Amino acid sequence: MNIILVGPPGAGKGTQARHLVETRNMIQLSTGDMLREARDSGSEMGQVVADVMARGDLVTDEIVIGLIRERLEGDKKGGFIFDGFPRTLAQAVALGELLESVGEKLDAVIELRVRDEALVARITGRSTCGNCGEVYHDVTAPQPADGKCAICGASDFKRRADDNETSLMNRLMEYYKKTSPLLGYYFAHGLLKRVDGLADIKVVQASIAAALDN
Ligand code: AMP
Repeated sequence: MNIILVGPPGAGKGTQARHLVETRNMIQLSTGDMLREARDSGSEMGQVVADVMARGDLVTDEIVIGLIRERLEGDKKGGFIFDGFPRTLAQAVALGELLESVGEKLDAVIELRVRDEALVARITGRSTCGNCGEVYHDVTAPQPADGKCAICGASDFKRRADDNETSLMNRLMEYYKKTSPLLGYYFAHGLLKRVDGLADIKVVQASIAAALDN
């Protein structure tokens, strides 16, 4: 089963993708994670995208489509979760073609719906474990008092440079201008399923499971 998780920044795509990896042996393909890796490694492409990402603008379709293309070969395990991709219509069309070229298809597009007001609070308090990727939040899921990740014990917490209010507003604007039209596109393909992303994490997990299994 190959699925897309779509929703504005802070909707919980990464958190839910991690759960699907654990429970369904799926492969998470997050273009945001791939781009951050390229940026932090200082590669030529990483240097090109660093400023674009810091501003909260979208990286070119060519770059992100190239990143996804590289990952679709080989063992597909329980299927792919596309997290943060596609973000434009051109990316959506390219994804359909890429999947077809490896004998796969898209099975569902899950929209995580969240009120805009809630996103700012979610994003500005967010941190992750630099080792295992577990997500924490200053108010709703604070880092353990002993300074060690509850999952893996590492003490290397990270905050994203673009998780500030200015970049977030730009990321949100990019979402509404360029990514939200995909909801109509996938609805018309009969693939769109909507889930309340503001519910408790476990409730969201159950809603996604129900959407995928029905
Ligand atoms: P994310 O981790 O998904 O929030 O992505 C972080 C940043 O990486 C975004 O604000 C964009 O600058 C860039 N990015 C990630 N995925 C894409 C994509 N599919 N298309 C264009 N830019 C992307």
